[in-house]
Amino acid sequence: MLAELKGLNEECGVFGIWGHPEASQITYYGLHSLQHRGQEGAGIVSTDGEKLVAVKGEGLVNEVFGNGRLQDLGAGKAAIGHVRYATAGGGGYENVQPLLFHSQSGSLALAHNGNLVNANALKHQLETMGSILQTTSDTEVLAHLIKRSGYTLLKDRVKNALSMLKGAYAFLIMTETEMMVALDPNGLRPLSLGKLNDAYVVASETCAFDVVGAEFIRDIEPGELLIIDNGGLHSERFTLHTQRAMCSMEYIYFSRPDSNIDGINVHTARKSLGKQLAMESAVEADVVTGVPDSSISAAIGYAELSGIPYELGLIKNRYVGRTFIQPSQALREQGVKMKLSPVRGVVEGKRVVMVDDSIVRGTTSRRIVKMLRDAGATEVHVRISSPPIKNPCFYGIDTSTHEELIASSHSVEEMREIIGADSLAFLSPGGMVEAIDRPFDGETRGQCMACFTGKYPTEIFPDTVLPHEKC
Ligand code: SF4
Repeated sequence: MLAELKGLNEECGVFGIWGHPEASQITYYGLHSLQHRGQEGAGIVSTDGEKLVAVKGEGLVNEVFGNGRLQDLGAGKAAIGHVRYATAGGGGYENVQPLLFHSQSGSLALAHNGNLVNANALKHQLETMGSILQTTSDTEVLAHLIKRSGYTLLKDRVKNALSMLKGAYAFLIMTETEMMVALDPNGLRPLSLGKLNDAYVVASETCAFDVVGAEFIRDIEPGELLIIDNGGLHSERFTLHTQRAMCSMEYIYFSRPDSNIDGINVHTARKSLGKQLAMESAVEADVVTGVPDSSISAAIGYAELSGIPYELGLIKNRYVGRTFIQPSQALREQGVKMKLSPVRGVVEGKRVVMVDDSIVRGTTSRRIVKMLRDAGATEVHVRISSPPIKNPCFYGIDTSTHEELIASSHSVEEMREIIGADSLAFLSPGGMVEAIDRPFDGETRGQCMACFTGKYPTEIFPDTVLPHEKC
C-alpha cells in the first residue's frame, strides 16, 4: 500500500560513513535509497576533521541538495545523514536532522530514527535543571544529557545518556574526530554496518549499501555502542539488559524489498507472508492482485501457493506530484484516485483476491474495493498479510491513535462490511511469526508485535506522546 495514502508512516532513516574522501556525496546517494522512510525533510552533516558543516531542509533529498547545496558540505571524510517524516505539528525546519550543537568543548551532530517513550519526562527534568530546548524533537534530549553527564570521555558521557532513554532509537552521533552508532536495548529499529573500501558505513537498511557499493558486515546489536574513528572501529555495550524486539512492520510494509533485516530478505519474508495467508484463508477466485508497491510480494506468494494466477490488477501512477502527499484526510482520499488505477482488462468479469499488507483506518481499502468493482470485478476478496492493527505504535511508526484504528473497535465481519468486500481475512499472529522465520527463539522470534497484540516491549508512560506529534 502507498504510505502516504494509508496513514501509516515510517518516521526516519539514517545513513553515516567514516573514512571516505567523498563522504557527503555517498551519504546523499545513501539517503536517496532511504527516501521511502521519510519525505518531509533531509539533512547531512559532514566533517573534515576540524569542523562540522550542515546542509538540511524540508522536502525530498534531491530537492534539499539540488542547486549545488551538496557542494556546500565541502570535502569532508565523514558524514551522517537523515531523512524524516512528520505530519502537521511535528514538522518545521528546526526539527530537520541531523541536529547540530556547538559548545566550547566541541561540536556534536545527531541523527535519530525512532521515538522515545520517556522524552517528556526527560525534557521536564532538563528544563528544571536549566536547559533550554531549541526543538520539539526527542533527539535534542540526548544532546543535553550527553552535555550534562559528569564523565570525561565522550563515549562514557554517551553511554551514561543512553542509559536514561527508553523507547526506540537508532542514533548516529558525530564529532570532528569520531562517529558513534547506538541501538536501543530492544533493537526496535533496523540498523546495519557495512564497509566501502576502507570506510565504515552505517544505514537504517541494507539497500543503501547496495546503492553505494558497500559490503554488508553485520547488523548492530541491541544495546551496542559502536565507536568509529581514524584508528578503526570498536564495539562496546551501554547496557546488558537487552532483548530482541525488531519491528514486525519493517518486514510487512516499511523496508524496501531489497533490504535484509537480521539476515532475512524483506521480499522473501513478504512472499512467505502471502503463502501463509493463502494457507490460512483460501478462497475460490480467478485472479490475485496486490496493492502496489509493498503488497506485490505478498500477492505473488498468495498466488503461488493457491494456484490462482497473479495479475497486475492495480497500477500505481508514479508521476503524481507531492501535492497529493499531504497528511490531511481530505487530500489523502483524493490521493487514492490520483495514485492508483484498476486495470479493467484484468479484473472485468473476474473474482479478484486483493492482497494488501495492512488496514489502518479502512478508508483506503474501501476506495480500492469500490475501484475494482467499478472496473467490473464480480467479487472482491480482501486478504491482509498481517494481523489486525489494534494498538498505536509508540516507537517511531505513525499508526494513528486507538480511535482512528478501525480494527481496535470493529470485528473482522464489521470491517468487511465497511470496506464493502465479499470476504475479508487477516493473517494470524502465529502465522506471521512462522512466515517471517527469524533466526531467534521464543514465541515472537524477537519481533515487536505490540500494534497487533498490545504487548509493548518497553514501559509506556501516561505522558508518552505518539510519534506523529514529534520526531
Ligand atoms: S508497535 Fe508495531 S509498528 Fe510499532 S515497533 Fe512494534 S511492530 Fe513496529
